Amino acid sequence: MRVFDRIGGDAYEQVVFCHDRGSGLRAIIAIHSTVLGPALGGTRFYPYPDEDAALEDVLRLARGMTYKAATAGLDLGGGKAVILGDPARLRGEALMRAYARFVDSLGGRYITAEDVGTTQADMDLVRRETRHVTGVSRALGGSGDPSAATAYGVLYGMRAVARHLWGSTSLEGRHVVVSGVGKVGYSLVRHLVEERARVTVSDVVPEAVGRATRDFAVESVPPEKAHATECDIFSPCALGAVLNGNTIPELRCSAVVGSANNQLEDQGCAELLEGAGVLYAPDFVVNAGGIVNIAEELIGYHRERAYASVRRIFDTTASVIADAAAQGITTAEAANRLAERRLADVGRIQLIRTSSRRGTP
Ligand code: NAD
Repeated sequence: MRVFDRIGGDAYEQVVFCHDRGSGLRAIIAIHSTVLGPALGGTRFYPYPDEDAALEDVLRLARGMTYKAATAGLDLGGGKAVILGDPARLRGEALMRAYARFVDSLGGRYITAEDVGTTQADMDLVRRETRHVTGVSRALGGSGDPSAATAYGVLYGMRAVARHLWGSTSLEGRHVVVSGVGKVGYSLVRHLVEERARVTVSDVVPEAVGRATRDFAVESVPPEKAHATECDIFSPCALGAVLNGNTIPELRCSAVVGSANNQLEDQGCAELLEGAGVLYAPDFVVNAGGIVNIAEELIGYHRERAYASVRRIFDTTASVIADAAAQGITTAEAANRLAERRLADVGRIQLIRTSSRRGTP
């Protein structure tokens, strides 16, 4: 990969390659933007097939975090980190603490958190070397696992979609297919059952399906049939790129609202969805509950205040849908423009000189 061509194209601020021979650490930290505040994003620990794949992943994810934080109204920028290798083989105290020292060396420009392949215990290790980490355990003043807050935010995204489509925020009697009942999906099913929605679940892991169907008395469908199941809302809560040229023509739902990151295989899929008459609630708008919750740690975690902020996902989703209708654009494009407008408008006020330090994030 021609690194400067790639990072120049999407205007990344900084990409840091970290190496520690003794612990075997090989990590990349990408800071896409600090226009709105320090770049916050998780650390992914993954056995990438090669270095280009790792670099591409961290760049794509870091940019996504800029858009997520901007639409969520946070004073945070976008960043992400990847540790290259198999966590089952490589994970260890020295490696995590070596990584943490590189995070610390950025002086707060990048704040880390857990992600695929890293755990709260890893973040507790990171905390021993730097204060620029969130998602540490409650005993260390953290907010714990963000998944419950993410699910809560997706629920509010669904309510906004319900009001737009059916004139009421109620999900009672609506059929929702939740594909992927891991940490977020399972928590979302609980909310939906409490809302008296009809829920169907799906997962590639039979134990996950068993747990959800047993605990909530819901039905299940095989994972390859989930997206094609007739329902009101399809909720992808597993992997990315689930909405593509093959799956979109098979959808039999009125809306897609789920937690999975990067649900659209490419931006053209937003038009395909619109053409198919499916309302798409942009992933980074409705799955921001976790980062909103984590951001509260930076000012002293308070659960009620955090969850009140997560509920604002209802208004953001509603305004994205309204903007798309008013401007004749897709909801995905409306969400991008909302983020870019805030980056431009709030970014510009930094040109006003003050004598004091900026407020807390
Ligand atoms: P998780 O690993 O706990 O759960 C994912 C579940 O999806 C697993 O049970 C897995 O078996 C299942 N799965 C994998 N492939 C599948 C397939 N093809 N069909 C059906 N199920 C499949 O992860 P999570 O933390 O619940 O996150 C779910 C999604 O939401 C991910 O895309 C994640 O990036 C995104 N997300 C999570 C958070 C959070 O707070 N955890 C925040 C924002 C976005």
